[in-house]
Amino acid sequence: MQIANESEMIALGRSLAKQLNPPAVFELIGDVGTGKTTFTRGLAEGLGVSEPVTSPSFTISKRYDFQTPGGTNGELVHYDFYRLDDPGLMRDELAEALSQPNSVIVVEWGGDVADLLPETKLQLNLSLNPDDSRTISFNDNAKFMENL
Ligand code: ADP
Ligand code: MG
Repeated sequence: MQIANESEMIALGRSLAKQLNPPAVFELIGDVGTGKTTFTRGLAEGLGVSEPVTSPSFTISKRYDFQTPGGTNGELVHYDFYRLDDPGLMRDELAEALSQPNSVIVVEWGGDVADLLPETKLQLNLSLNPDDSRTISFNDNAKFMENL
């Protein structure tokens, strides 16, 4: 899939959010600046998160509340392990978040915690093209893309 600009990336996240039934796990793979956090911003908007999403780089994780269409409380948890040499305690935090039935988990730079992530997830591989568009390939074990 070709994503021409930032607003198309946000639109992709938004429309995927509409397909979701928590729990849901996204693994975002791609270099710095390919649009992983931008995608997450769209996902949050589509879920109904009211706060703006910013990169969790320095805090490693950020949590955002939203209401599911059924009226229960959901939680978006956004991880970025880029600056973390040793996941240590963050592994426990991630495992706990993954066990929550109403969670939507997004992981950037998840190589060191890949063993914790479930088989049922949507992996996005993002890459940057010379014209500033992005190419995304999907590995969709969770079948989130089926109705897109
Ligand atoms: P990452 O989290 O992968 O490091 P970010 O989402 O933080 O990347 O940053 C991507 C940057 O690239 C943003 O400043 C965004 O505005 C810009 N951008 C330009 N073109 C695109 C595009 N086609 N898709 C996504 N982001 C884009
Ligand atoms: Mg990022």
